[in-house]
Amino acid sequence: MNESMITSIRERYQRTFEQIAETAVASGRAAGAVRLVVVSKSQPLEVLQASISAGITCFGENYVEEAVEKIAALHGTGVEWHMIGHVQSRKAEAVAAHFDMLHSLDSLKLANRLDRFCGELGRRLPVLLEFNVSGEERKSGFPAWEQERWADLASEIEPILALPHLQVRGLMSMPPFFDDPERTRPYFQRLRRLQEFLAKRYPGPQWQELSMGTSVDFLAAVQEGATFVRIGQAILGPRAK
Ligand SMILES: *Cc1c(COP(=O)(O)O)cnc(C)c1O
Repeated sequence: MNESMITSIRERYQRTFEQIAETAVASGRAAGAVRLVVVSKSQPLEVLQASISAGITCFGENYVEEAVEKIAALHGTGVEWHMIGHVQSRKAEAVAAHFDMLHSLDSLKLANRLDRFCGELGRRLPVLLEFNVSGEERKSGFPAWEQERWADLASEIEPILALPHLQVRGLMSMPPFFDDPERTRPYFQRLRRLQEFLAKRYPGPQWQELSMGTSVDFLAAVQEGATFVRIGQAILGPRAK
């Protein structure tokens, strides 16, 4: 095992963890209110093995096939696997079978397929609904950049909430990329307002989670209410191309 890799990952992980806890407390929240998903997409298996040795317990992956291989190779390590990338409907079965949580549920069609496979497996999958709060064309997520049209989301959200084998727990978004987190902050605030809107419209515990913030802007996301941050490069270093 590569000791220097383990040491540097551990240092970056712990520093990130501390920054998150300090920022949560400074924002009037509990130190443990935010969970850290370490994004391991495009990272080779040895980086994940070093990460586990460094104490990391939760990975986020974007591509189903790549993730399923890693999950099989790291079977028995007890880590959690979160799917955070767009999932094509035909890959729903693999997601139902292998992941602990899906952050990026972005269509009723995918929800229906996941629900069917989870039913066959006798499980209930925790999911977050992904929203596009910026209007960028190539972004996935339910359209939510215009507040006046949030009520129109009902036709997809209501049937998803009724699916017995999915457990909706909150919202996720991937805002436009800016080097300056202050430019991303308004999108985090919009997702938070959408959470309040949905919680009022569909009362119940299912809106608690907010998955937002990456390596460059996670502290702004924590200040705006994130309960999950998804951080890759700031902890694991640059990704292979
Ligand atoms: C890659 C990715 C991240 C992490 O990005 P970093 O810049 O490595 O922190 C977070 N969320 C999603 C959806 C991603 O695709």
